[in-house]
Amino acid sequence: MASDHVDVLIVGAGLSGIGAAVHLRHNCPKKSYAVLEARGAIGGTWDLFRYPGIRSDSDMYTLGYSFKPWTNPKAIADGDAIREYVRDTAREHDVERHIRFHHRVLRAEWDSATARWTVHAHRDDTGEEVVLTCAFLFTCSGYYRYDEGYTPDFPGVDRYAGQLVHPQHWPADLDHSGKRVVVIGSGATAVTLVPALAERAAHVTMLQRSPTYVISLPSRDVLADALRRWLPAKAAYPVVRWKNVLLGVANFQLSRRAPGVMKGLLRRAAKGRLPVGYDIDRHFSPRYNPWDQRLCVVPDGNLFDSVKAGRASVVTDTIDTFTERGIRLTSGEELPADIVVTATGLNLLALGGMTVAVDGAEVDLADTVAYKGMMLSGVPNFAMTIGYTNASWTLKADLVATYVCRLLRHLDATGQQIVTPVAPATGELEPIIDLKAGYVLRAVDQLPKQGPAAPWRLHQNYPRDVLLMRHGRLTDSGVRFSRAAPAPAEPAVGQPLAARDADAPADTPVA
Ligand SMILES: Cc1cc2nc3c(=O)[nH]c(=O)nc-3n(C[C@H](O)[C@H](O)[C@H](O)COP(=O)(O)OP(=O)(O)OC[C@H]3O[C@@H](n4cnc5c(N)ncnc54)[C@H](O)[C@@H]3O)c2cc1C
Repeated sequence: MASDHVDVLIVGAGLSGIGAAVHLRHNCPKKSYAVLEARGAIGGTWDLFRYPGIRSDSDMYTLGYSFKPWTNPKAIADGDAIREYVRDTAREHDVERHIRFHHRVLRAEWDSATARWTVHAHRDDTGEEVVLTCAFLFTCSGYYRYDEGYTPDFPGVDRYAGQLVHPQHWPADLDHSGKRVVVIGSGATAVTLVPALAERAAHVTMLQRSPTYVISLPSRDVLADALRRWLPAKAAYPVVRWKNVLLGVANFQLSRRAPGVMKGLLRRAAKGRLPVGYDIDRHFSPRYNPWDQRLCVVPDGNLFDSVKAGRASVVTDTIDTFTERGIRLTSGEELPADIVVTATGLNLLALGGMTVAVDGAEVDLADTVAYKGMMLSGVPNFAMTIGYTNASWTLKADLVATYVCRLLRHLDATGQQIVTPVAPATGELEPIIDLKAGYVLRAVDQLPKQGPAAPWRLHQNYPRDVLLMRHGRLTDSGVRFSRAAPAPAEPAVGQPLAARDADAPADTPVA
């Protein structure tokens, strides 16, 4: 059993974990760190998902890191390009050699007496159990199970003789050319898959129980294309990034304040791209308001184009049963299919499935409240990355990493060792993720909560979070700083203030 110690242990080598390591390296260069990654590769989501057409559904000027300009002309980018971008980042910033692959973190135990985490990991390649200690644990483990996507129990599925595929485990050798394909689902994955499969399939049917808002965005950014000609990437990137941030905020605010207007705009945009007389109300007009669930982006209207060209169709109905040859619907209609793709979603998983204990007591995540959306009440020296639900994930991941670096520097500067959020005494608690999507609702009772007001409330607003997390106070009533060792005798008269602070007794709040 190997054992060693680092100042900061990062869990996960996806977009967030690599970004966290780069921030740490540059902002806290003296801190030692390691990245534990369960898989054998960098990239997380962008390495795991390999289905045809896999791409981002937000623009790469905001899904990219603040410190590394996105230079590819495609604003809505392919999975391969995103994976390469994350790998290049790790290489350029010398993060790669700090990653320990095939290390699945199972458990983390905090000890207040030593101000240390003991982290237990399983090596999936050798079967070895590994124990590390660290002063600060930073989880960047994404939000869903990697081993299994979500598939509802479909009646009759066992007798289906065709090929049943979940997008999370796309067989590399699956040839859909000339085949009849049914894609079950209406989320981001379904709207990505349908036009991609339709290029070679005989026909693709998107079978949805209820519609989703689908919005067409240009795959290239006009401003970025123009600026690229005149400015170096480092100068152009923040301009395009902020333009897209502000457009996103405006879009979200309009949806929240005037949902009827937003619905109308989305309906009109879809109508302009679909065949005359198409039943938009049935297939593209959801019952919920825009942004109660994420909007689905289609680059250059490719989904609408496939429908218009007759290569794909949308069916809004429920499944009665699978048959040997396909799917029978409640309406009685039969959908023959050589391949059925269950684009039915993810299984949410907090903290990559690891269990956490603090001073011997198990932590139930559902009992914790998230501080600034990134730390947990009662859990010392711990941060987690959960991206925005209404904007690109990396915008928040960058801010969380910046904040962790600020905290670490603050601890050193004040001679403290431990930072612990303390749950708000009053106020109604709500789920940390406010989306009404199925994958959220299925797991919401296992997740941390959010509180009624800052610093416990998530506003899902990047400009506001920039002020809070990049420039805001590190000390407030929601967080307590302390030291591991018991306080020594009163400092001698004349001892400098900094030294007195450094010797402050355990659990002394810093106002
Ligand atoms: C198909 C798809 C498309 C998406 N498109 C977008 C988009 O366009 N825009 C957007 O903002 N968001 C999108 N998302 C959300 C997406 O997950 C984030 O953008 C981003 O990739 C998350 O990065 P991450 O590093 O936080 O998590 P992940 O990419 O999930 O990476 C987490 C890493 O942690 C590792 N890990 C997990 N648990 C453990 C453990 N216990 N021990 C060790 N390692 C562990 C995993 O193996 C993985 O490598 C998409 C998600 C999916 C599934």
